[in-house]
Amino acid sequence: MRKIALLGSTGSIGTQTLSIAREKKDLQIVAMSCGSNIDLFEKQIREFNPSVVSVSDENKAKELQDRISDLSTEVLSGMDGLIAVATCNEATIVVTAIVGMLGIRPTIAAINAGKDIALANKETLVTAGHIIMPLAKSKNISILPVDSEHSAIFQSLQGNDDNRIHKILLTASGGPFRGFKGEQLQNVTLEDALKHPNWSMGRKITVDSASMVNKGLEVIEAKWLFDVEYNQIEVYVHPQSILHSAVEYEDGAVIGQMGVPDMRLPIQYALYYPKRLNMSGERLDLFKVSNLTFEKPDLNVFKGLGFAYEAIKRGGNMPTIFNAANEKAVALFLDKKISFIDIYRQIENAMNKIDFIADPDLDEILQTEQDVYKL
Ligand code: NAD
Ligand code: MG
Repeated sequence: MRKIALLGSTGSIGTQTLSIAREKKDLQIVAMSCGSNIDLFEKQIREFNPSVVSVSDENKAKELQDRISDLSTEVLSGMDGLIAVATCNEATIVVTAIVGMLGIRPTIAAINAGKDIALANKETLVTAGHIIMPLAKSKNISILPVDSEHSAIFQSLQGNDDNRIHKILLTASGGPFRGFKGEQLQNVTLEDALKHPNWSMGRKITVDSASMVNKGLEVIEAKWLFDVEYNQIEVYVHPQSILHSAVEYEDGAVIGQMGVPDMRLPIQYALYYPKRLNMSGERLDLFKVSNLTFEKPDLNVFKGLGFAYEAIKRGGNMPTIFNAANEKAVALFLDKKISFIDIYRQIENAMNKIDFIADPDLDEILQTEQDVYKL
């Protein structure tokens, strides 16, 4: 039995993780958390019967408690509840499918409790990678990537322990605004930004894909996961989303992973690593795809990607400033309070204004986040 604690069960990655657990009899969900969607959460609890659950919103947690008083499931709330789910005794692996820097503390707690991490929550690694990677190493914990590009890179590294990575080819769909010029981004709406051509994902990452901030976060995520320098990571806009990323070795060989765009594969690979099990659903038909194309991203238009390279080059708390400013701006954009390109303006402003800290500890990372929100 693989016993899983699932942070963010009601989201896009969360529900797809549960769909795998539904098919595989040796996966057991022992703990789960959600933000506030207790209608779906209650159904999930009744189906998967975890021993402990947590709802971020305290009032919703109380309401859920009443609704499931016929079950023995323990109901917790807030950050304490999230950490309790992440460190639940029974679990051996934690799937981090929550959004944002909120994931830092539960992820660190889970590593300290000896759990392996199937990591979808990239913002945690972007901001606290310098704390999390050494900690995981010292505790002999595996951080298994769930992000499709990083899973592809991880798969391309198998069997190559002694071979140095020359370069990482990180692919990007380009999102709904691929090919746009700067002035065209001025007038795009929330509805436009939420129309991702190839993937169906949560709202925040969908906006991040449209701005290419997501790819910037992924460059930083790759740096931490695979211990490479930022200038070894090159972004390729690949609108078909078939090559999910690749590794170039010293001899020039490029090894990548292809497949239809389906997040269940990287999730399942992380849960069963290094085994490959049967997977239901559509298979890749290269005759049908016919063409795979690659373009250079335009950093003058998609400034978010340029800011990410600058943030990782400067290091310290700069990736936290970049990420926190983006989280704040995207929340405002999703509320229709700012325009799409205001996201770039807010990131740039925060990177210029917030004090630089060269080697921030956890408190300083969280303080930097607060400082960005106060701007
Ligand atoms: P989502 O918005 O669909 O789901 C987020 C989950 O977090 C939900 O279960 C929600 O209830 C929970 N949540 C929200 N606010 C919370 C709070 N305050 N406290 C606790 N829980 C809270 O997001 P998603 O698209 O599934 O993305 C999850 C993570 O995975 C993100 O970091 C994203 O970048 C990454 N990721 C997602 C995809 C994808 O295909 N969706 C692909 C690669 C990486
Ligand atoms: Mg990705």
